[in-house]
Amino acid sequence: MSLIVQKYGGTSVGSAERVKNVARRVARWKAKGHQLVVVVSAMAGETNRLIALAREVQPHPDPRELDVMVSTGEQVTIALLAMALMDMGVRARSYTGGQLRILTDSAHTKARIVSIDESRIRRDLADDCVVVVAGFQGVNEKGDITTLGRGGSDTTGVALAAALGADECQIYTDVDGVYTTDPRIVPEARRLKTITFEEMLEMASLGSKVLQIRSVELAGKYRVPLRVLSSFEEESEGTLITFEEDQNMEQATISGIAFNRDEAKVTILGVPDRPGIAYQILGPIGDANIDVDMIVQNVSHDGLTDFSFTVNRADYHKTLKLLEPVVKHIKARGVEGGDKIAKVSVVGVGMRSHAGIASSAFRTLAEEGINIEMISTSEIKISIVINEKYMELAVRALHKAFGLEQPT
Ligand code: ASP
Ligand code: MG
Repeated sequence: MSLIVQKYGGTSVGSAERVKNVARRVARWKAKGHQLVVVVSAMAGETNRLIALAREVQPHPDPRELDVMVSTGEQVTIALLAMALMDMGVRARSYTGGQLRILTDSAHTKARIVSIDESRIRRDLADDCVVVVAGFQGVNEKGDITTLGRGGSDTTGVALAAALGADECQIYTDVDGVYTTDPRIVPEARRLKTITFEEMLEMASLGSKVLQIRSVELAGKYRVPLRVLSSFEEESEGTLITFEEDQNMEQATISGIAFNRDEAKVTILGVPDRPGIAYQILGPIGDANIDVDMIVQNVSHDGLTDFSFTVNRADYHKTLKLLEPVVKHIKARGVEGGDKIAKVSVVGVGMRSHAGIASSAFRTLAEEGINIEMISTSEIKISIVINEKYMELAVRALHKAFGLEQPT
């Protein structure tokens, strides 16, 4: 007998019929003798609807009140699922985050879980009940309702699995796992049987469509075995997110090609090369809460160097504005940049033990005549900034060059 936490997303519980489908699936797992804790999201579109409604009344909704409101979406689906289970003769009980004292900090609309009181869940499980829990919500120490940020039900699922020491946390969604790249760009993309936590975090641009990244971090930290599965397909085993040491030796060197169109590049030209300059440039950017991704500084000539970095495209104009006084102050030659860039990344833990991955990637791009504007690497990732219009070509070429379309 295993203790399994399952999480079903909004599309999986998008209608009464689909809620009944989820109930049937839960009932089958229970019939196999497992203990089940089931976390659900609000019905597809419901959270967006509630937020839009709030904005009609108050353009920038008060965060505390917004949480009171949007948490209702999940309150509906937990009760529906419990009813559907009972209707099938399965014992079930639903709980809101507050009822289970899922204690969070007070950062409304993006709260973090502090602790979970699992005693009530344990009692119900011992009582042969399926425990149905509202995702995405908790309470702070004052008892006020909080929510965990968009996609937060994944985090609820993982946090419960961690607190209960569950054997597996299964995230049911509308895709059947994590792919080598986006199948809409490369039709030959394959579902990965396994991927490591580190790779999953590096593939955020692909992975975040599947799982809230925070939930992956949490699962890695508490060593919760996490599996992504389709709620519409019976057969598929989905993708298991694992630890590097658990991977088998046959594992491919490269796991996937990730990409990101949301970036912009900024270069400060002719920067005097002296201590403190990087801080003077990036300090104001950080103070403005703008995330900097890649940073490149070249060797200097005659005491001058160029300094480039990338930011989220939405922050591009703000970044240029912030740099105006800085450029004057440090007496740099000027700023240039562009927001028509994309980042393509080759990801794989196998890179640690294989030389030549970078040169293969660069050769592939050279053969396609794609110019590389920036490069950055980590132990398990090579990221390349290129002109946005070549992004899909680059992803396809790299996917092929690393043999990702072939089953391992
Ligand atoms: N219902 C929330 C949202 O739409 C939480 C979730 O689905 O995970 O973001
Ligand atoms: Mg989701």
